[in-house]
Amino acid sequence: MDILNTIQTLSKQEKKTLLERMVKLQEEAGELANEVLIIQKASGSERKKSQKKGIRNEAIDVVLVALSIYFQQGTTLSDLEEDLKLKAQKWKKTCSHARDLLSR
Ligand SMILES: [Mg+2]
Repeated sequence: MDILNTIQTLSKQEKKTLLERMVKLQEEAGELANEVLIIQKASGSERKKSQKKGIRNEAIDVVLVALSIYFQQGTTLSDLEEDLKLKAQKWKKTCSHARDLLSR
């Protein structure tokens, strides 16, 4: 995917250190959590307003920063595809295991 090439290039050009990216990831995760709290009308968030595409935007911010950390490690697009497939397979097993447990 072209966009992943762009993200990989930007990740390598980015001046932020690993620690700075990690802090940024936590900041973005906090912003995502805030949007979720608003949508869920959680206590203390009732009067806050969700941003347009709030959860969607903040989830993408989390993905981008996580990818910048991933690519900063010298990984390639092939590594990304391989790692995603492995993790998805593990996730799928967990889901089917959960489904098996529920059907008993
Ligand atoms: Mg954000």
